[in-house]
Amino acid sequence: MSNSFPQKRIALFGSTGSVGTQALEVIASNPDKFTAEVLTAFSNDELLIKQALQFRPNIVVIGDDKKYQKVKAALAATDVKVFAGEQALEEVAAMDCYDMMVAAIVGFAGLRPTLKALESGKAVGLANKETLVVAGDIVMQKAVEHRAPVIPVDSEHSAIFQCLVGETRNRIEKIVLTASGGPFLGKKPNYLVNVKRDHALQHPNWNMGAKITIDSATLMNKGLEMIEAKWLFNLRPEQINVLVHPQSIIHSMVQFEDGSIKAQMGLPDMKLPIQYAMAFPSRIPNDFPRYDFRKPSQLTFEEPDTKTFRNLILATDALFKGGNLPCVLNAANEIAVYAFLRNRISFLDMTDLIEKTMEAIPFIEHPTLDEYFESDAEARNFAASAIKL
Ligand code: NAD
Ligand code: MG
Repeated sequence: MSNSFPQKRIALFGSTGSVGTQALEVIASNPDKFTAEVLTAFSNDELLIKQALQFRPNIVVIGDDKKYQKVKAALAATDVKVFAGEQALEEVAAMDCYDMMVAAIVGFAGLRPTLKALESGKAVGLANKETLVVAGDIVMQKAVEHRAPVIPVDSEHSAIFQCLVGETRNRIEKIVLTASGGPFLGKKPNYLVNVKRDHALQHPNWNMGAKITIDSATLMNKGLEMIEAKWLFNLRPEQINVLVHPQSIIHSMVQFEDGSIKAQMGLPDMKLPIQYAMAFPSRIPNDFPRYDFRKPSQLTFEEPDTKTFRNLILATDALFKGGNLPCVLNAANEIAVYAFLRNRISFLDMTDLIEKTMEAIPFIEHPTLDEYFESDAEARNFAASAIKL
């Protein structure tokens, strides 16, 4: 069995997060197929140490320099190499010691290490959607140049990717990204105006990191995913549709030129798309719970309420206009979510802040990588000073 599946050495960037810990569960269940060669965390030194003692990677990186000594000391009796700092993340991403990066850092911070992995010709299992929102053209260009496959981990994009296996010569008419609708599905602005962080952090179907959970509550997550889909599958903006499907059983769909629709389904469990990306092109067995069509349940679909959840309009605008606008949208959103999580701004303020920032930052139609970095910084500064962070 294991001779038909060459063992893959995984570099898990963001190993202490929601996707990261679930990827480690997949590795632990399949020790003949995967090894954890690299683990990285930003500030959760305790969990990183625990993971390193269990998985014995070649290298760990702690993003926060101040924690280097503690991690180093805790792993002194092992042969795990310890590095610290932002620069080290990029250096390790360029090393030869692994086969596939699982990119599970949250936000813009994931962009540089992922670019380094692609430049080194490494396969990337991409959870970090912000990477494609910020600089999708450059990221995909690098992937093509260095023949580095990008396999989506995001459940909707994994669904579309799975629907496209065996369809390389067939044109896509459109795709439908399904959205759970988040915890405030059906609510109106007069309700949302009073929503607090703890309430917004309760997602009905998925247990995820704080940032993406807020993005799901505001529907920005689906907006980011539209832009992510454009780059992953080389689509025109008008081919990308969003449909609310509160049960999260259909993870997304592709409609081909003959009108035939393929969907990928299953219970909502991120371990499945994580495992699929890591094992691609194989499917490997697991004992995750199965969806049972005989149990009474209805699959329902409705249009998103974009009058209430205006983030989806802002993201659609960025998707159609392109240039540096998705990058600006993303930066403003990161600041907005950060401020909301610290009770500095209200739920609806987030959208206003993103909109203002998108209006303020000069448009660049074909940004270079440096211009993306500059747009990101300008947008962050503008948004942060608008709310006096
Ligand atoms: P999380 O907050 O739970 O974990 C984030 C990880 O990134 C942690 O390991 C953290 O240490 C690391 N990190 C944070 N800031 C960093 C920085 N500045 N430098 C280096 N490392 C840093 O996030 P998550 O929910 O696991 O999401 C990770 C990514 O996957 C996000 O882009 C998210 O949109 C995407 N995603 C997540 C899920 C999910 O179910 N959680 C589903 C689909 C896509
Ligand atoms: Mg998703």
